[in-house]
Amino acid sequence: MHERRGETAEQTADESARRIEAVGAETRAMAARYEALFTDLRAAVRAHAVTAADPAAAAAAANLVAGRAAQALHSAFPRQRAMACRTGCAMCCHLQVHVPPQSAFLIARHITEHFDAGQRAALMRRLEAAVATLNAAADPSQVRQPCALLGPDNACMVYAVRPLSCRAFTSVSAERCRTAIFETTSGSGAVEQDPGHFRFFAEATIALLDAAEATGRPGDQADLCVALLAILNDPDLERRWQQAGMADR
Ligand code: SF4
Repeated sequence: MHERRGETAEQTADESARRIEAVGAETRAMAARYEALFTDLRAAVRAHAVTAADPAAAAAAANLVAGRAAQALHSAFPRQRAMACRTGCAMCCHLQVHVPPQSAFLIARHITEHFDAGQRAALMRRLEAAVATLNAAADPSQVRQPCALLGPDNACMVYAVRPLSCRAFTSVSAERCRTAIFETTSGSGAVEQDPGHFRFFAEATIALLDAAEATGRPGDQADLCVALLAILNDPDLERRWQQAGMADR
């Protein structure tokens, strides 16, 4: 506070309180604007998903909007903690992944368009094995197995269209990931997340689920491997999913 000569202690106390109240009001307004970043993103992604030509387009829009928001957050807010995530580190790819239906259709389309026959046959074998392991588990969330989409180089084979939950997950400590994922049953819940980054992808996920429900389509999240196996084994599944929503229009 600036020195104010000739001011009584009462006046100084009043001025101090006035300034604190002003900063408090500005902070509350800024917090409301920050919160609106997330709620507005959810509404925007939902609107895109409701009007999207197909589920893959809806998921691609969700990936784009949430991804760009997360990038902006990292560049606009300085002094964030450095992430430990690196290419070739795939510890989180040993956890169970859930996806909204639109994301599963997008990834399945990417596989159909980009994998050759050999890659696709090998993937189907890995998906079948992964689903069998999940089905045999008392608690699938505690299964630790490499994702069926993890390549031999420990890189995601569908990186460009990877699930929102995979995009959301970050860590500031590889050691923390190792112990949480491989030495405990708490899994990803024990790895501290970047709250803003994580929330953009969580909001986008909710938006896709809301959009599915709003258009009368099945909107539950499913295990990634279970969903992909079902879609890749039934090329008509996407049309039927779309049709479920069209029936109500
Ligand atoms: S989809 Fe890709 S990023 Fe996600 S768990 Fe599987 S391999 Fe990892």
